[in-house]
Amino acid sequence: GRPGPVRDEALAALAADLHGTLLRPRDDGYDAARRVWNGNVDRRPAAIARCLDAADVQRAVGFARDEGLLLSVRGGGHSAPGYGTNDGGLVVDLSLLRTITVDQGARTAQVGGGVVWRELDEATQRAGLATTGGTVSNTGVAGLTLGGGLGWLMGKHGLAVDNLVSAEVVTADGELHTVDADDEPDLFWALRGGGGNFGVVPSLRLRLHPVSEVLGGMVVHPIDRAPEVLRFYRDFCATLPDEAEAYCALLTDPQAGVPVIALLLGYNGPLDEGERVLRSAREFGPPLADLVAPMPYAARQSMLDEPNAVHGLHRYWRLAFTEQLDDGLIEAVTAAAAGATSPLSAVIFFYVHGAATRVAPEDTAFAARRAQWDVDVIAQWTEAGESARHTDWLRSTWAAAEPHMSGSAYVNHLGTDDAPEKVRASFGTNLDRLRRLKARYDPGNLFRLNPNIAPPAP
Ligand code: FAD
Repeated sequence: GRPGPVRDEALAALAADLHGTLLRPRDDGYDAARRVWNGNVDRRPAAIARCLDAADVQRAVGFARDEGLLLSVRGGGHSAPGYGTNDGGLVVDLSLLRTITVDQGARTAQVGGGVVWRELDEATQRAGLATTGGTVSNTGVAGLTLGGGLGWLMGKHGLAVDNLVSAEVVTADGELHTVDADDEPDLFWALRGGGGNFGVVPSLRLRLHPVSEVLGGMVVHPIDRAPEVLRFYRDFCATLPDEAEAYCALLTDPQAGVPVIALLLGYNGPLDEGERVLRSAREFGPPLADLVAPMPYAARQSMLDEPNAVHGLHRYWRLAFTEQLDDGLIEAVTAAAAGATSPLSAVIFFYVHGAATRVAPEDTAFAARRAQWDVDVIAQWTEAGESARHTDWLRSTWAAAEPHMSGSAYVNHLGTDDAPEKVRASFGTNLDRLRRLKARYDPGNLFRLNPNIAPPAP
């Protein structure tokens, strides 16, 4: 990269070229636009390019490359480590790319690179359709999909990447490609699990499925029952048909203000069958409360929004996959939950199974095709001055839990505190092919603010 700050004249020329707008530190709106979901991330890019179309993305990418600027790509802004912003570089902000076109006959949706799940779910549900998507409704569709995409429909319809039909992508050389299984299949393969490593996606096409009313909701137990609930949960997950999902969260009950453990249950199929499949998980205990009920799919998709969708809270996350929920892990998370320093902090287990695990690891770049839990340890708090206390809680929780989990994680959850070995392990057996493709499409590693696939040395 070129030393020193980017020249004002160069930025002025970029601003004049864009159909959208370029926000610089002196512009109105810059301060709001530099912020992301994680309030802990406080960075000041040299400029934020609010792209209006794919041509703008091409200009912005070319500019960052030619000026040697650090480049961030931002869709929904939900990267926990804050990859969607940076200090002193350029942000390619896709938030204006919000077009959604649902083709009801073909059961596909063409989705702009800045669309968030709430918008896509609303649009597809009008046609009685949906696709596997995030469990918090203002997460970006493209960012979530490119890294894999876990959600309530994955047991039945696979991961979000398994529903990717085609994508537009602007590569580091500034070229706009449209890729699918037939056109540039290598690049299409790399996009399905390689995250933001291969370029910027101004729009993508997703396959849709009929989804109507679903069962959803949580079953709540007191925290002192956590070990038995988690052991029940472990065994229950092993019995799930594709239509069912079961997550588990140790969190603070927002009404009562006490720590609890909750099973988060879902069923995507005939309601009476769902009642039968979920019955044992609703009766076990018995629970303090059983809130499982039929609801519109979009309502289940926003069930976890409070407080997770709120932009600006301070956050620190550590995450890993595990194929076993052993007693040591159960003990570690139970102790952590009982001693949580913030009522907004939580430990959540997401169970990956069914169709999401029946794709061969080499068929898409997303290699982790095993039945397993994505375990998220989440510290969230409101006061910047209290950060040390809450990050200490997270670090000690993680130290106790990590030895009981695998050395890999869901790519979209990797952060700056994850060791390079863990990043490599998370791409698994696909790492070598991904590195060769990275060398072809991004030899200079322009797209490096992400769980990075470093190109091999030339
Ligand atoms: P951003 O911060 O805008 O982008 C993150 C990175 O994604 C970018 O730096 C870039 O590398 C890449 N990216 C984003 N958009 C594009 C694009 N159009 N083209 C190219 N690259 C792009 N994941 C799940 O699978 N399932 C979940 O249920 C889920 N829930 C979540 C809930 C919360 C509250 C949060 C914070 C995250 C969750 N995630 C989930 C993880 C999520 O998938 C990743 O954080 C993802 O990167 C978010 O995308 P974004 O566009 O919102 O974030």
